[in-house]
Amino acid sequence: MMLVGNMGFQISDELLGTFVPIILYWVYSGLYLGLGYFENYRLHSKQDEDVKNLVSKTTVVKGVILQQSIQAVVAILLFTVTADDSQAAINQRTSLMVLARQFVMAMLVLDTWQYFMHRYMHHNKFLYRHIHSQHHRLVVPYAFGALYNHPLEGLLLDTIGGALSFLLSGMSPRSSIFFFSFATIKTVDDHCGLWLPGNLFHAFFKNNTAYHDIHHQLYGSKYNFSQPFFVMWDRILGTYMPYTLEKRVEGGFEARPAKEYKDD
Ligand SMILES: [Zn+2]
Ligand SMILES: [Zn+2]
Repeated sequence: MMLVGNMGFQISDELLGTFVPIILYWVYSGLYLGLGYFENYRLHSKQDEDVKNLVSKTTVVKGVILQQSIQAVVAILLFTVTADDSQAAINQRTSLMVLARQFVMAMLVLDTWQYFMHRYMHHNKFLYRHIHSQHHRLVVPYAFGALYNHPLEGLLLDTIGGALSFLLSGMSPRSSIFFFSFATIKTVDDHCGLWLPGNLFHAFFKNNTAYHDIHHQLYGSKYNFSQPFFVMWDRILGTYMPYTLEKRVEGGFEARPAKEYKDD
């Protein structure tokens, strides 16, 4: 399906599905960058962000841009390979019910894929050391660090996971613009490191900023592998660590494990 851009040239849904999430990533995390200066909303102090993180902000920005460039190329290739050109598919109008079902299906597929891949990356010492540990250089997560991953991890977890959820849910490329945008914003939110009043993600999802913050702590590496939407797999497979929010002396909150955790 083609959309006519206001400049007169045509932009396909596939291109939008690839680039809109990237633009939203930077816009949404830009907003959080500003809010991060308010100590009252933070889950870790600003000082901890500088001291505990093992990587500089410049390196993170470069890493994310590299990641997004590789993913954009692969996404366009995948869209091209899986494109359905039949007229019937193009003219099909999807009802709201069908759309909702496809969305939920896509969320479940992405969560399932990511849970097992993510958990395996922690279990396999080689993969952890050479690939997934890059993401864990951020002990104090912040919004634009959400997709700071080894390029191979981005490809394996995000791109392949995204392709599977797109294909298995049967959604159209147009719907995928919204789905991939939603998944991207959710991931940024989970890493924002802020507990803002009125955050709808915190109201609707048990898997949220505080929940994922637990996973980023040194004691949390055996818990809360589920991402980005539900806590289902952690619950089923016994890796679920609930959190409590405690006040910090500097203002703001701290997410603490609400039950005893196992060390090595
Ligand atoms: Zn991890
Ligand atoms: Zn993370």
